[in-house]
Amino acid sequence: MLSAFSTVLVANRGEIARRVIRTCRSQGFGTVAVYSDADADLPWVREADRAACIGGGVPSASYLDGDAVLAAAKRTGADAIHPGYGFLAENAEFAEKVVRAGLTWIGPTPVAMRCMASKANARRIAVEHDVPVVPGFDRDLDDLDQVRVWADGVGWPLLVKASAGGGGRGMRLVAGFEALSEALASAEREALSAFGDGTLLIEKYVARPRHIEVQVLGDQHGRVMHLGERECSVQRRYQKVIEEAPSPAVSADLRLGLGAAAVRLASAVGYVGAGTVEFIVDADEPDQFYFLEMNTRLQVEHPVTEEVIGIDLVEWQLRVAAGQALPTLDLSTLSGHAFEARIYAEDPMRDYLPGAGPIHRLDLDGPGVRVDAGYGAGDAVGIHYDAMIAKLICHGPDRITALRRMRRAVDNAWVPGVVNNLPLLREVFRNPAFEAGDLDTHFLGREGLPSAPPLNLERGIVAATLIGWVSRSVQGALGQITAGWRLDGPAWQSDEWSCFTESAVGQWRHRSGSSLDVRVGDETFAVTLLDRVGDRFFVDVDGVRQTWRIICVADTVFAHFGDGEAMVSRAPRFPPPAALDEDPGSCVAPTPGVVIAVRVSVGDRVSRGQVLVTVEAMKMEHAIASPSNGVVQSVRVQTGDSVDEGALLVAIDADEAGD
Ligand code: ADP
Repeated sequence: MLSAFSTVLVANRGEIARRVIRTCRSQGFGTVAVYSDADADLPWVREADRAACIGGGVPSASYLDGDAVLAAAKRTGADAIHPGYGFLAENAEFAEKVVRAGLTWIGPTPVAMRCMASKANARRIAVEHDVPVVPGFDRDLDDLDQVRVWADGVGWPLLVKASAGGGGRGMRLVAGFEALSEALASAEREALSAFGDGTLLIEKYVARPRHIEVQVLGDQHGRVMHLGERECSVQRRYQKVIEEAPSPAVSADLRLGLGAAAVRLASAVGYVGAGTVEFIVDADEPDQFYFLEMNTRLQVEHPVTEEVIGIDLVEWQLRVAAGQALPTLDLSTLSGHAFEARIYAEDPMRDYLPGAGPIHRLDLDGPGVRVDAGYGAGDAVGIHYDAMIAKLICHGPDRITALRRMRRAVDNAWVPGVVNNLPLLREVFRNPAFEAGDLDTHFLGREGLPSAPPLNLERGIVAATLIGWVSRSVQGALGQITAGWRLDGPAWQSDEWSCFTESAVGQWRHRSGSSLDVRVGDETFAVTLLDRVGDRFFVDVDGVRQTWRIICVADTVFAHFGDGEAMVSRAPRFPPPAALDEDPGSCVAPTPGVVIAVRVSVGDRVSRGQVLVTVEAMKMEHAIASPSNGVVQSVRVQTGDSVDEGALLVAIDADEAGD
């Protein structure tokens, strides 16, 4: 059969744009990338055959602008559009426009997308097709008495959700009736601003939910099949961090039930292409599953399914869009086990606050590791988009082998520069409950994660001393070190280093050749530099040979020791923002971002905890509260301003302590 299309425009960015481009190329299709002004230098732009700029950095001015995407397709001669995930992927109106423009939409029909776009509507279709749903209430939410009667029947707590929701937005956990009306109002506000649709529904809150989802694939000939499940219970903020396939909790019977329900639902809407039917399973009642929602697109975590089934889902999206029939797949060909870990530019120790900044190195490769990354070394994570940097995927013949590979992969991974969640990932893969597969969506909190990662201050100082010593050596030639060398023997020199709130003095002296002694506190390390290739330092430390990776950026040294990492600076790493020094009661930005609301004016009296400014960073809103009671002295920002971390937003003349 002749292909219906020959050149695919990928209407997305980051790792998914690269991943789709990769398969398109391998299948012989031409590729077109689109990008915003903010993304012009990122990898997928170069990896496609052609690339077109579609507007400014703010998503609504580029990746969410369907007309700009269509104009780019026209300009570049693309005749098909792959939407990736997020942005326009679930926008039925855009899919219709694509088809109307005579292009191929690599995704389900707009009709199927519409049926599943609203969680409330999808629930109704599920009920009609005998797919169990979480007990829920989606009638008139204004009648609180009626809601109360229903809620008292199913039992509190309840979960308020945005019907058009996604990404955990508009979700509120409600403990009892007294908190309901405020939760409904704030969820509606958030849903309206995020999705332009404030419709809500309420569900019974499943106490120990496991998030288990089923991959489905449909073709244009009426066939729908499922490709087994993924377990996605390791979450923060209702969003996934680690996924695996198959689920350690799904029995063969449950798999049959989940798969059949997913196929029933997808068939009910004539589903074409790749989609995911999400369920929750109560960990206390493991044979019972409930439908949550259907995502009418490829998911972030699709690679774990690819690894265990041995197919390329993007390839099948392309084949299906070109009219090919699905293959016959026997799920007993399901092979082994796969994990995926998402590396996010976020700080697990600061309530997962996303961070923006440079990626000095992106060392993720390793034996048996699949890397799907949106960035390369030298790129920077900006403030406009999702904070995901990369995904690591490991496969093995069984769960423990895959897990072992994953442990090594995250131990070895090194992304110095922007703050990231690698320390958390390292902990999770070593956690005994995780290893036992004892998961639910509260796993992280229940296990006391994240805990503070090791600072490795001493080894960090040794690494910093070593790289400093090498760069100070004569022309960098090893063995000709003069610094600190005196006729009467090498003298001790010292430097002060800090890492977050800790600091220590590192003393060092040249011993002989390329050997150093480094003393930190009571400990002395005998270090010999044996060889160096770029950032890789082959060293002997106290008789043990090992490879350390060390880089120095401005005053900060980043080091990776194979089994841990460190970051030490000559200056305090996080100096208190000047504004805070000047006025401890003032309100500063906790993260770089864009100001989306300013709620106070000069002269207003404010109280501690009152939200003064809202900053949006990486798809998340941060309500920034007043740290003190007092009077607003000046408002330093307005809506639309970009702010750096630590920027003064509102200066407050704080009341005297004790007020
Ligand atoms: P979104 O579309 O915003 O991602 P989902 O409906 O997919 O929202 O739910 C996201 C997560 O929220 C689930 O993976 C689960 O952790 C939690 N969740 C959703 N519904 C319930 C429920 N009824 N009870 C308990 N947890 C839930």
